[in-house]
Amino acid sequence: MSFLSHPVSVTFSMIRLHSTQEVHHQVPLHEAIFLVPTMGALHVGHEALIIKAKERAKERTEQFGGQSKVVVSIFVNPIQFDRAADLEDYPQPLEEDLKKCKALGVDYVFTPDSKEFYASDRSIKVSENALSALLCGATRPGHFDGVCTVISKLLNVFRPVGAIFGEKDYQQLAIIRRLARDLNFRTEVIGLPTVREPSGLALSSRNLRLNEETREQAPAIRTAMLAAYEKFSSGTTSADRLLAIIRMYLEKNAPLSTIDYLECVCAESLQAIREVDKPAVIAIASFFGDVRLIDNIQLHPSSI
Ligand code: AMP
Repeated sequence: MSFLSHPVSVTFSMIRLHSTQEVHHQVPLHEAIFLVPTMGALHVGHEALIIKAKERAKERTEQFGGQSKVVVSIFVNPIQFDRAADLEDYPQPLEEDLKKCKALGVDYVFTPDSKEFYASDRSIKVSENALSALLCGATRPGHFDGVCTVISKLLNVFRPVGAIFGEKDYQQLAIIRRLARDLNFRTEVIGLPTVREPSGLALSSRNLRLNEETREQAPAIRTAMLAAYEKFSSGTTSADRLLAIIRMYLEKNAPLSTIDYLECVCAESLQAIREVDKPAVIAIASFFGDVRLIDNIQLHPSSI
């Protein structure tokens, strides 16, 4: 049985690309690419990005004809880790990831070797110098330089028409939008809402490293954020008051958590604000043991 409308001209085999050279040899320049950059340990959140990429590829072919393809990159980018232990412990179930990609109908999976991808004498990095200093950037020096550098490289390798990212990493998405704008990449940056467990916990590859106790407490992040959101919806616009609700809830319900930062920021500039009188985001990073989880919630004053 085939579910392809043109089985002769379309193949469903997934091609694994191990190096930039293989990309040059195997990905025809005329293909319109939708790229999903990941660090692997794929979960349903990544899956949502891949499904979106597939949809966008299909729409593009329907609109303009030609071939549109989906690329998933799986690369644990060493230069974005500020703690060696975090890099070492990062889960890498590659075979499972490849199976998931294949089942989702991904056309190409890019799994570069870090020694090939980064020349040993490399001397260029890409830095964003406003948004990167805030939130996660304040406590993770060099992290966003690593992100900007790897994303620039991936955008150069594939020249995608679209690249899909999750709003779970809100700051990262904002920085990548800046990167694409300021360096004139011809790639549409597409953001997707956070996918969550039924408990409310944002799906993350890092959740695999939670132990039984911290796993039980971690969903409190979302419940706390929703409690603040409810207050905001009923008219509280003071950032301090909204943040206090979250802090108190976590102190009571997630004693194993240690907040790294908790801020209410302008949705555009990511600068801290005192009053939510324009689109804003409450962003949090919190340690559960040695596992650092992040989450955010968007606040739109027009919805009050
Ligand atoms: P990572 O593999 O953690 O670097 O994430 C790769 C991409 O998946 C990034 O664009 C993330 O924002 C996105 N992502 C991670 N977790 C989620 C989630 N729970 N929902 C939606 N997107 C996600």
